[in-house]
Amino acid sequence: MNRFEGKVALVTGGGSGIGRATALKFAAEGASVVIGNRKEKAGQETVDLIQQAGGKASFYRTDVSNLKDVQNLVQYTVDTYGGLDAAFNNAGVEDPQAMTPEQTEATFDLVINVNLKGVWYSMKCEIEQMLANGGGAIVNTSSIAGVIGYPGHAPYTASKHAVLGLTKTAALEYAQQGIRVNAVCPGAIETPLLDGLAEGDSATIDYMKSLHPIGRLGKPHEIANAVVWLCSDEASFVLGHGINVDGGFTAI
Ligand code: NAP
Repeated sequence: MNRFEGKVALVTGGGSGIGRATALKFAAEGASVVIGNRKEKAGQETVDLIQQAGGKASFYRTDVSNLKDVQNLVQYTVDTYGGLDAAFNNAGVEDPQAMTPEQTEATFDLVINVNLKGVWYSMKCEIEQMLANGGGAIVNTSSIAGVIGYPGHAPYTASKHAVLGLTKTAALEYAQQGIRVNAVCPGAIETPLLDGLAEGDSATIDYMKSLHPIGRLGKPHEIANAVVWLCSDEASFVLGHGINVDGGFTAI
């Protein structure tokens, strides 16, 4: 499919995991893709993978918790490829496991600044650009921890619940101006972030698998498929929605 031929897509956290898989999918469907994350080597690896497959991509070093960085990222995208049609606000960090009172203020601030404020900063800049373009589609990364409680991870859970609030609100605000805003809520997906949470403990991985009725963890491309569909014209009547891509985790 070439649903994004001639279009421009922006992916934050595109240097790894779910973001990388989604950047590859956008590019495979014809989009020019800009990847924004902090580690240049990782972002450039995604660019190389896209270019080796014949696609168009660029990296712009970005910390999404810094508004100026995000403004520069969106400006770079427009200057390089001439517009912005689709944005995947996906950069995120996890928190160390601890009961709510034991979480530190530093962790709380970091997680909220990246996972929540970063999404707001991104939408703030993208929506301005999309209004100038005449429309666009945005997908924000929430989580199953945006839908249900996740003991031991209060800052992360709070940030992901709030992402759904931002998503629904912006979707309603721009519903009649050609900008659709949605979210994706992944179950446990095999990425470096999940490796960090499991700390290489196979019993933890097996336990995570057991929580998914499908009997396994998800793959990054399974989230990418949902994100790219939400950004495509096939989802033209879908807005303000958080789609659970979770192997049935939240259906129980
Ligand atoms: P990952 O492989 O660790 O990727 C996270 C990405 O976010 C990296 O590219 C990282 O790049 C970037 N990032 C982190 N802090 C950033 C910052 N301040 N500014 C810009 N980029 C930043 O993790 P992943 O699993 O693909 O996670 C992607 C998203 O999915 C996250 O929002 C996560 O919460 C969510 N999610 C993941 C799972 C899961 O099971 N894996 C489940 C539900 C939701 P740099 O370090 O180079 O900046």
